[in-house]
Amino acid sequence: MASISLRKVVKRYGAGPKANPVIHGVDAEISDGEFIVIVGPSGCGKSTLLRMVAGLEEISGGEIAIGARVVNDIEPADRDIAMVFQNYALYPHMSVFDNMAYGLKIRQLPAAEIQARVERAAAILELGALLQRKPRELSGGQRQRVAMGRAIVRKPQVFLFDEPLSNLDAKLRAQTRLEIQKLHRELGVTSLFVTHDQVEAMTLAQRMIVMNAGRVEQIGTPDEVYGRP
Ligand code: ADP
Ligand code: ADP
Repeated sequence: MASISLRKVVKRYGAGPKANPVIHGVDAEISDGEFIVIVGPSGCGKSTLLRMVAGLEEISGGEIAIGARVVNDIEPADRDIAMVFQNYALYPHMSVFDNMAYGLKIRQLPAAEIQARVERAAAILELGALLQRKPRELSGGQRQRVAMGRAIVRKPQVFLFDEPLSNLDAKLRAQTRLEIQKLHRELGVTSLFVTHDQVEAMTLAQRMIVMNAGRVEQIGTPDEVYGRP
């Protein structure tokens, strides 16, 4: 687990004076183990911000730290994060087990360690009975759980979620939301979750970062943000 600090973070796409910032100096302090939802309308910069934390976009100005380490120039693979995307991109020819184990095999972890990590993730996500199936034999919700399993087995200090529920129908969305809450209860990993859906934001967030047009409008608990007594 780790805290995350965003300090005057700026993003410009492209170079030169014509490159207008899409992120205008964002500041936020996220505590160890917190579940934070970044919410705001389409195009406000949520995904860009998350991708900068992940190391998938260069940071144009300011600083991002994970724990005590400034990560501006640290490769994605060395940031100790795992990301869950909207399109879960499972390997179609591999079993659920192998999809979850793949990143660990590449890192050459011992087989017994891989087995143990995959089984623990499968237990948390209730995938134990599906480990030998192929992705095409799973529902959309199950596939998204496999994608989360693939993130869990890495034992990252930080989870990043980029609209992971938006390809699911309403019923699966509600169910998968519960699974993400359970995941956070059990693992307590610092999590940043991006969505444009306010209901999703309110149900999942311990605190939310409300963004608009590349700026933070508000940071607080759902009650603080929506002004309930
Ligand atoms: P959100 O996730 O809130 O929908 P994004 O972070 O995807 O917003 O986009 C923020 C702004 O940056 C938008 O104006 C978008 O058009 C722009 N943008 C995103 N990616 C790129 C890119 N690769 N090149 C240029 N502009 C981009
Ligand atoms: P390695 O990190 O050892 O190269 P992986 O297959 O786990 O092997 O990762 C390949 C690249 O993709 C790395 O840059 C890694 O950080 C990134 N990556 C893999 N899985 C994820 C994930 N769930 N979230 C974020 N980045 C990931």
